[in-house]
Amino acid sequence: MNTLTFTILRLLADGKFHSGEDIARQLKVSRATVWNALQDAEKLGVEIFSVRGRGYKLPQAVTLLDEQSVLNAIGEHKAWFKLEIHDHLASTNSDMMKKLNAGQAHASCVAANLQTNGRGRRGRSWQAGLGASLTFSLLWRFQCGASALSGLSLAVGVALIRALHSFGISQTELKWPNDVLIVTSNQAPEKLAGILIELQGDMEGPSAAVIGIGINLNLPKKLKQQIDQPATDLNSVTPQIINPNELLGVLLKHLAEVLSHFEQQGFTSLRDEWTKYHAYHQQPVKMIHPDGRETFGTVTGVAEDGILLINTPLGEQRFSSGEISLRGTN
Ligand code: ATP
Repeated sequence: MNTLTFTILRLLADGKFHSGEDIARQLKVSRATVWNALQDAEKLGVEIFSVRGRGYKLPQAVTLLDEQSVLNAIGEHKAWFKLEIHDHLASTNSDMMKKLNAGQAHASCVAANLQTNGRGRRGRSWQAGLGASLTFSLLWRFQCGASALSGLSLAVGVALIRALHSFGISQTELKWPNDVLIVTSNQAPEKLAGILIELQGDMEGPSAAVIGIGINLNLPKKLKQQIDQPATDLNSVTPQIINPNELLGVLLKHLAEVLSHFEQQGFTSLRDEWTKYHAYHQQPVKMIHPDGRETFGTVTGVAEDGILLINTPLGEQRFSSGEISLRGTN
């Protein structure tokens, strides 16, 4: 990306018009250079209004990530984390997986103001945009082997729920194994956040997890239309303005607490809390299998290792993460 692009986007972050001439003067470049840099931003999906006689502006003001503000929001445990903030990354998980292979430290976090090629599970994509979402990945190293981490994505869901509650956002529920939904009485659940966990290491240990999280802050209509399931954002569910730096800091704090707990005691001690927030606990559900086949059953619960238990016409079946996609029946 053009090195000036984010410098200019920082000037535009106030959501006001800035003339090309003013920007060019401030940065000591030509107006054509400003135009080129903003063309690059548009190629990455950033929407910029350009009005003759007034200049350039973003659709609305955005708060960009700032390392010190995130560390302040983590509070007393900020020294645990190694934080890296990027203007633009294709995928925070891909970046962290590369770092993991190069020996990156435990509790490292990369966050991106703009993620342009976010990944979901099984080749699916995660839509994000500048100011539209918080996207980050946390590297956590475990002494235990990867085989003991089967409940990890559920544990991460508990950390997200705790963090969102601390901002007064309580209409949140979890969908096995790893989505955060907003459930309101008269409409279908909408996805607020997703989790993508990638594991590395021996079955016997040690192992490492790259925990990728995307939370929607303020999804523009165009971005929302690219998502093939009901989705929502924090801006639609709370009248508060959530500062992404505070949100990231508070999430990291809760993630560290939950992950330390998980490492010592496994998912068992978090299971009741997780179940309390499961959107489909003891509800009829549709299971979508990797070959597209759909079967039906009723959720009976989750086991101590995070396995989903479903009562089906064939008796109780057990599913581990990745074996099915769960959906409500209405
Ligand atoms: P599963 O139930 O198997 O987890 P999923 O459809 O939720 O299925 P994930 O891999 O967890 O799959 O997440 C990727 C999916 O999330 C995409 O295919 C899309 O449907 C949806 N999605 C993509 N971007 C967003 C977003 N910003 N907000 C909400 N949902 C999104």
